[in-house]
Amino acid sequence: MGISWIRAPFGERSRQRRADERLVSHGLVVESGPTDRAHDALTPSERLSRTVVDGLEEGVVVTDLELRALSWNASALRILGVSAAQLTASTVAAAGTLQYADGKPVTAADNPARRALRQGGPVRATVRRSSSDGGERWFTVLARPIGGAHGTSRSGVVCTYADVTGSVEAERRLREERDRAQRFLDVASTLVVVLDARGRVELVNRQGCELLGYPEEELVGRDWFEVVVPKADRFDARRAFFRLVFGADPPGDSLETTVQTRSGEARQIAWRNAVLRDAAGKITSVLRSGEDITERRRAEARITFLAYHDALTGLPNRPLLEEQLVRDLARARRTDEAVALLHVDLDNFKLVNDSLGHGAGDAVLRETAARISDLTRAGDLLARQTGDEFLLLLDCRGAADVRAVALLAGDRIAAALDRPFETCDAEFHVGASIGVALYPEHADDPETLFKQADAAMRQAKRGGGGSVTFYEPEVSDARARLSLTTRLRRAIDGDELRLHYQPIFRLDDGAVAAVEALVRWEDPEHGLVPPAAFIPVAEETGLIDPIGEWVIDELCRQASAWRSQGFRPRLCFNLSPRQLRRADLVASIADGIAARALDPGQFCAELTETAVMSDATRQRSLLTELSEAGLAIAIDDFGAGHSSLARLRDLPVQVLKVDRSFIARVPQDPGSSSIVAAVLALSSALGMETVVEGVEEPAQLDFLRRHGCPLAQGFLLGRPVPAQELRPLAAVGS
Ligand code: C2E
Ligand code: MG
Ligand code: MG
Repeated sequence: MGISWIRAPFGERSRQRRADERLVSHGLVVESGPTDRAHDALTPSERLSRTVVDGLEEGVVVTDLELRALSWNASALRILGVSAAQLTASTVAAAGTLQYADGKPVTAADNPARRALRQGGPVRATVRRSSSDGGERWFTVLARPIGGAHGTSRSGVVCTYADVTGSVEAERRLREERDRAQRFLDVASTLVVVLDARGRVELVNRQGCELLGYPEEELVGRDWFEVVVPKADRFDARRAFFRLVFGADPPGDSLETTVQTRSGEARQIAWRNAVLRDAAGKITSVLRSGEDITERRRAEARITFLAYHDALTGLPNRPLLEEQLVRDLARARRTDEAVALLHVDLDNFKLVNDSLGHGAGDAVLRETAARISDLTRAGDLLARQTGDEFLLLLDCRGAADVRAVALLAGDRIAAALDRPFETCDAEFHVGASIGVALYPEHADDPETLFKQADAAMRQAKRGGGGSVTFYEPEVSDARARLSLTTRLRRAIDGDELRLHYQPIFRLDDGAVAAVEALVRWEDPEHGLVPPAAFIPVAEETGLIDPIGEWVIDELCRQASAWRSQGFRPRLCFNLSPRQLRRADLVASIADGIAARALDPGQFCAELTETAVMSDATRQRSLLTELSEAGLAIAIDDFGAGHSSLARLRDLPVQVLKVDRSFIARVPQDPGSSSIVAAVLALSSALGMETVVEGVEEPAQLDFLRRHGCPLAQGFLLGRPVPAQELRPLAAVGS
């Protein structure tokens, strides 16, 4: 520790004393420092002065003209941080430890006392002293030359020191706080604007200018609403402002508005308004402080999006669809319209996931979402439920036949998902089962509608997948199934079954070569029920046997009626797997035919490929029995299962009915087209007749003609209809 001060050499003691005396007589100061005069040697007035000076908080040091310290008080030693010996002995040693406020060192050549002497007047300075413990003290120095006025000669300098460390620190703290506050305002992007009672900008802060992109002078004095409020909001914003100014509305809580920056960007601001009044209490201006919440709103929007969307496919999720469904149902109730909900479930997804891994699974799900999305229309809503399940809420507004719309949509989706998927360098078939539930036909609340679409989808799966199934109240659970069984039994006894006939055309001459008998149930409650809705249950419960008997009986009755009209097409009927297990099946069919004296050769039993192949040995004897009884045998839905033509060759099969899923993609899909062409060629080589099922398009018919297909069946050529409706067609064809 040192001090840039001038020492008072011991040899100068007498001079020093003389100076003291002069000072005392000037009434300036009395030494309290080193003195060789005992306290009691002082005069009473000297003693009083010393007590006063000693009691001062300010430090006082008196020097001679060479700036040697002559006297000082205790506060001076404290403030300067030196001992009395150091004060008197020090020269300019370690002068660098004292600095002016601007950082310049206080030196022997440049110190306040020296300056005061040079200038001949008082000099003030603020000085910083570093202490050895790393702390620092601040003090102010006032150096005043002694004498020199009124003809007196200069004798030295009196320096007073005041410790200002406290206030310097307080100031620094204040400054830091101000900086922090400024930084905080910057970060919080609080913008402040004061508008006069007419809505003109009186004041706008820096943040306001930065945010809006205008320099202050371009905003002040201008109409706030004209400059920054988007046109569409201007009228309302101005009205709200004037209601505030005229006291109609209180300033109120936070208010959110959009402002438009100079570059045209829209930002969301949450404002707080405060009114400023004149002495008379009239509102003169409005102070608005605003927070830019654009990013927050964007983040919220993103979070809302995530809460309502599926991350993998980007599709809406079930909660979002549910909300839409609630709204659609409410509207449909008012307008007396229908709503259709489709539940899509992939058939072979698990296989893909298990064999190719989750990456491939994810790719399939994304591709599925894309394929279905391509088929949806503007008002439809497609959502991913979970896993491989998707929901489609169809926009049915204005649709005359909602069933038809839903079926068309379902069929299209099934076909789209039936196309092979390609991922991980592999191509595979996935397919989907689709369940449909309708409002008001099946349910009138969202929850039930979801349940029923799901039940219908499961039903579609039980039917082998790849198809669209409408909800049937009866098949959804075991209890309902029981009542279905009861009602079905009643239907068989109560004459509620009907046979419809679909023509099968010979393509070379356009004649009706055959008709296929397709059973329907005319349910008094539900109208005409298609076989897919009750054959599976009839199979499970064994009711298929009486139904099968009724079908043969009714077919024979109709055949003899047609015979009398001269119409003798081949008569095809379906046998389901369970019927094949009946030991007396062939006998009962033969009996029915014989009872009407019909030719068994006119009949053709259709068995599905899967049913025939499930127990080949047993079925072989059954087929042999049937063919020995004179009936023709057709393999139905060929291609849907896994048998090969070669294996069928050994069986007494005359007709091959190619599953409609093959023709569906002909002629546009080369794969399907070549399969159909190959099957046609092979079956004719094996001496079988081929019927292609499901012909719906003229292009398909063209294709079949060109490839020598002998027989075709499909909606394009004729739908299944009651016998009386078939007659005119038959007359044309036969
Ligand atoms: P199936 O034997 O393959 O009958 C053909 C089905 O395809 C019929 O459906 C028919 O309406 C439909 N179809 C025909 N042409 C087209 C077309 O161009 N496009 C489309 N999309 N479909 C077409 P249906 O009448 O609903 O019969 C479904 C299945 O129910 C039948 O398939 C058959 O397996 C079974 N079935 C029908 N009647 C009987 C029966 O009396 N006994 C047994 N055991 N099963 C029956
Ligand atoms: Mg059939
Ligand atoms: Mg078929």
